[in-house]
Amino acid sequence: MNGQTEPFLLSVLGPATIAIFAVAYIWTWALTSRRHRYLLVIAAAMLLPLPGALFQVLAEPENKGFTTVASGVLFMGASILAAEGMARRYRSQIGVPVDLVLLTVASALLAYFWFVDPNFHARAFLVNFFCGGYFIAAALRSERATRGRTTDRTVFWVMLAYGIFLFPRTVLFALPVEAGTQAAFDHPLFWQVATLSTAVFATALGLFFLVAVLTEHMDDLRRDRDFDRLTGVLNRRGFEEHAAALMAKAGAPPMVLILCDLDHFKRVNDTYGHRVGDDVLRIIGSLLQSICRKGDVLGRIGGEEFALLLPNQGLAQAEGFVRRMQEAMAAADFALPEGAPPIQASMGVAMRRDNEAYPIWFDRADAALYQAKAEGRNRAVFVQPAGAGQTESGFFAGVCAGQG
Ligand code: GH3
Ligand code: MG
Ligand code: MG
Repeated sequence: MNGQTEPFLLSVLGPATIAIFAVAYIWTWALTSRRHRYLLVIAAAMLLPLPGALFQVLAEPENKGFTTVASGVLFMGASILAAEGMARRYRSQIGVPVDLVLLTVASALLAYFWFVDPNFHARAFLVNFFCGGYFIAAALRSERATRGRTTDRTVFWVMLAYGIFLFPRTVLFALPVEAGTQAAFDHPLFWQVATLSTAVFATALGLFFLVAVLTEHMDDLRRDRDFDRLTGVLNRRGFEEHAAALMAKAGAPPMVLILCDLDHFKRVNDTYGHRVGDDVLRIIGSLLQSICRKGDVLGRIGGEEFALLLPNQGLAQAEGFVRRMQEAMAAADFALPEGAPPIQASMGVAMRRDNEAYPIWFDRADAALYQAKAEGRNRAVFVQPAGAGQTESGFFAGVCAGQG
């Protein structure tokens, strides 16, 4: 050390803070099923500036050339890894071969401007414009991030801002410094502005990027929790949560619940195999989805059982829905072999009574479904809420026979 303790400490503090982030990145990589390997690339990028700064701080005067060039190379390498790691999230990285060529050329030039033609300005411009260029390129190539979540849009803008910022920063703080052989580290103002502003930007970028990855991960988890992978509609949990939210609304509207169970579906599996059965379920899911209106809730609540909640509807509208469903099923191509029996469903339809609890409402629809099965399948049984003059809890309002 040459006695300038405070600048030394400040020099190491920024890179050390960034290095701590590496732990969070490795942790996040492990937490997110080790799918996002670019997090490890960025973690590596965050570790590199620290040895670079330590080289500068601990350099003996006779080794200054080596440590200056080495810390410049580490800084450029860290910038490439960070920019490329982030771009990789958006599948827009430049690629390792080009990265290696560019880093080799830049490193050779850096050594040249120390050992052959010592020039501080050339070195400062080279390192900073190189790094700025990488971040600008990474941002522009990752332009699709601007069409994603707010968190990814923020990453894009911070990446671009950092890349652009390196240009005026270098011009403003390097140009006033006399061009000579000294290391950047020997120019306190230039060096401190460079290390501290880099630390601020790296911390901001590192944080926003981490939030972007974790937000995506949370969305994935939520989707896995609430949606059925096979059909893409809500699963039982998601359906019940949506139903509860609708029912909890003040002055909840009239609502109809339709339970739809495919008829003799086991035979489809037994005859044509589970994969064909899965395809049929997928097609049924999209058929139902296609006839749902905005606000209707659709879920797959069991193996071959779907549930629909139609808010603001009475039994007359539900009957229209059931008819459309039966017509769509009769017309659909399930890609089954010639002569296969048609895919049909039985349905139980119940209108919600005032303030009726979900399990009771569900049981009434389920009873109607059982009745539809018992009466020969391929039909819908409608059950009214008991109204004036109707005291029976399961008053059957009608039957809607299916086609085919
Ligand atoms: P019913 O008309 O009485 O409803 O007869 P069913 O054969 O449809 O009813 P059952 O309850 O006996 O059988 C349901 C079948 O649904 C059994 C199971 O093989 C099938 N199933 C459940 N989940 C899946 C799934 O995810 N994929 C496939 N391919 N089949 C499933
Ligand atoms: Mg069933
Ligand atoms: Mg069934």
